[in-house]
Amino acid sequence: MLGTGHGFVFNLYNTCFLLENGKENLLVDTGGGIEIVKNLEQKGYQLTDIHNIFISHCHTDHILGLIWILKRISGLFRKGYKEALNIYCNEEVTKAIKNIYISVLPKSKIKEIDENVKIHTLNDEETVEIAGEKIIFFKKKKKKNQLYGFETILNNGKKLIFLGDETCNPTLYDRLKDADYLMHEAFCLDSEEKIFKPYEKHHSTVKSVCIEMDKLNVKNLILFHTEDTHKNKKDLYTNEAKKYFKNNIIVPEDLEEIILK
Ligand SMILES: [Zn+2]
Repeated sequence: MLGTGHGFVFNLYNTCFLLENGKENLLVDTGGGIEIVKNLEQKGYQLTDIHNIFISHCHTDHILGLIWILKRISGLFRKGYKEALNIYCNEEVTKAIKNIYISVLPKSKIKEIDENVKIHTLNDEETVEIAGEKIIFFKKKKKKNQLYGFETILNNGKKLIFLGDETCNPTLYDRLKDADYLMHEAFCLDSEEKIFKPYEKHHSTVKSVCIEMDKLNVKNLILFHTEDTHKNKKDLYTNEAKKYFKNNIIVPEDLEEIILK
């Protein structure tokens, strides 16, 4: 987990992570700043290790880190680095990425990006092979094109579903039933609902997520996109979750590794 915080955090990095199968990886979201490069380096990765990026939606805390990646990697392309960089995202994100890098980067870097970075605009329910694995990308809400999630079968046969940073709506419940790993946002504790007002922002409390995901018999629930005022977030969130969710709860900290066994 390169970051676990929500969109306006000071003590955490915005939620984004690297999904790795031992050979290759997929960077899922990029956070909002240059810390994406710093956090990758802190975990031992260079940008030359990243060949595939998925951006779930075009909010600042998911897309703007990409500009720092493009800025750095376009310099490498200029020096002769030739490996492909693929970006997977919906139409809205494709437009935003192009608008941003064309507006803020120098012409020489724009040329390198245009020549070397492939942006794949996703359709709802599109299956793409990335790093040798099949990944199904889907729209979170069918009427809007704003947020995409994905599901994939890991090489140990377990199903992983990523739902982005909005509360899950019941139209997706069939898909989530019995999932081995489910990645879901949880903004704050239930007792803090009046302070942070998560429901107004299409976010959840730990309790509200856990009640629903327990009914769907999710096996491992990974909670992220949290507020950042607690020093002991892991304990506080885990303790609340355990009251409403019978299976395994994972509340990662920034830079924590999760083994999907
Ligand atoms: Zn967000």
